[in-house]
Amino acid sequence: METRVRFAPSPTGPLHIGGLRTALFNYLFARKNNGVFILRVEDTDQNRYVKGSEAYIQNALEWSGLIPDEGPSNGGKYGPYRQSERRDIYQKYISELVQKGKAYYAFDKTETLQDERKKSEDKGETFRYGAENRMQFLNSLTLDKEDVDKRLEGSFVVRLKVDPGVRITVFDEIRGTIELDSSLLDDKILMKSDGMPTYHFANVVDDQLMKITCVIRGEEWLPSLPIHQLIYDAFEWTSPKFMHLPLILKPSGKGKLSKRDGDKEGFPVFPLAWGKETFGFKEIGFLPKGLINYLALLGWNSGTEREVYELQELENAFGLDGIQKGGARFDFEKAKWINHQHIIKLETHELIEIPIINDQLKGIDEAKQLKLLELLKERLFTLEDLKNEMEWIHNTTDYDEKVVKKLTPRDPAGVLQKIFDQIQQIQDLNNLKEVLMPWAKQNEINTGLMMQSLRLALVGKLAGPDVFQICMLLGKDVTLKRIDRAITFFNLKT
Ligand code: GLU
Repeated sequence: METRVRFAPSPTGPLHIGGLRTALFNYLFARKNNGVFILRVEDTDQNRYVKGSEAYIQNALEWSGLIPDEGPSNGGKYGPYRQSERRDIYQKYISELVQKGKAYYAFDKTETLQDERKKSEDKGETFRYGAENRMQFLNSLTLDKEDVDKRLEGSFVVRLKVDPGVRITVFDEIRGTIELDSSLLDDKILMKSDGMPTYHFANVVDDQLMKITCVIRGEEWLPSLPIHQLIYDAFEWTSPKFMHLPLILKPSGKGKLSKRDGDKEGFPVFPLAWGKETFGFKEIGFLPKGLINYLALLGWNSGTEREVYELQELENAFGLDGIQKGGARFDFEKAKWINHQHIIKLETHELIEIPIINDQLKGIDEAKQLKLLELLKERLFTLEDLKNEMEWIHNTTDYDEKVVKKLTPRDPAGVLQKIFDQIQQIQDLNNLKEVLMPWAKQNEINTGLMMQSLRLALVGKLAGPDVFQICMLLGKDVTLKRIDRAITFFNLKT
């Protein structure tokens, strides 16, 4: 049987990285099993619909390289793939359930239900419309046919008729067997008064009609599984397999990773920007494969030490047995480290094509751009890091005070003056190291002091790439000017 999996987001805002991880695991499962990866947009809840979010989801999948085989934009045999366009299909199946006696129409007024809810709350109980009390309400089980037909012209919902006292057994591929007494469930609404199905109903009908073989989704949907099982049973359909992925947890403490955690600690929780104010991983300089690789490790491991994977390599390595049950803690430093591994794997000429990189190099002599990037590539954890890493190419800001304090008693101006004179005599800065190091030794100049003073003069602090490469990229004139500036600075101090 062909493996068919679906990613079924609701367009209620930007796609959280937890959602993207669900899409990724579906995608990998499909690729691993030569199957089909489907995108289904679950947009039946008009109240929660947010304009632009479907396009966002599609863009995020495209950016990540997780291209659906079937979906709203490329179609497929089992479309439409947007639930709002499947109304007639749900109508047909809801009638079938009512005819089978597995569901019923309910006409109760909102106020009646609110009153009942209030009464239960006052008694410290939770109100449930179900086997215990359904015969007290206005529904097709309590009213005669004529009355029902008349009321069907007005507003109504359709509810699942849950038989009490039944042991519902469901099986999750990751968690094993889960059992629940049906008496704990209420008669869930399957069709709302606006004629739209609820999540539970549309989800089951579509998984059946789209021939989904395995449902892979977040753990937060596990409590819905018994209800879904009851709907499958009511139709006498065989349910697909289920896999509920572990939650992505906050970096520390309890609970799910939220946007607030990201805001607090300075990292995004979305792949792409949403509006002007919310940045995504793309904007802070993640490569799509860096993010995807990191997300793959959130809840899955290969059973080996290996952590760095290209998407195709993940497709081969991925397997159900590597998925963990417990929550996966989000670690931004680790995400950046994985991204770094992918940055250094790229050829410099590929890296320079990326807009974030390209933009930052604007204004620099083209011949120097590649050299500069080659030099700094190793230091980038995100593509945005380039900005800080190359600050020295434009100017030296203030000198780092701590370094100034440390060097001042050792006469840095004197050393810098000697270096200045020496560099002035050299034509080609390409061999600076080969000239300067033996020269320092011969003249008994402390190399540590020489290197630190030179670095401070050129960069303003004791950080950055190889100092001789820096001289080369700055060129002789700028190098000399900066050394001169530092000499003046230290002379003024003493
Ligand atoms: N529409 C649900 C969501 O937004 C999908 C749950 C499922 O995959 O069954 O996450």
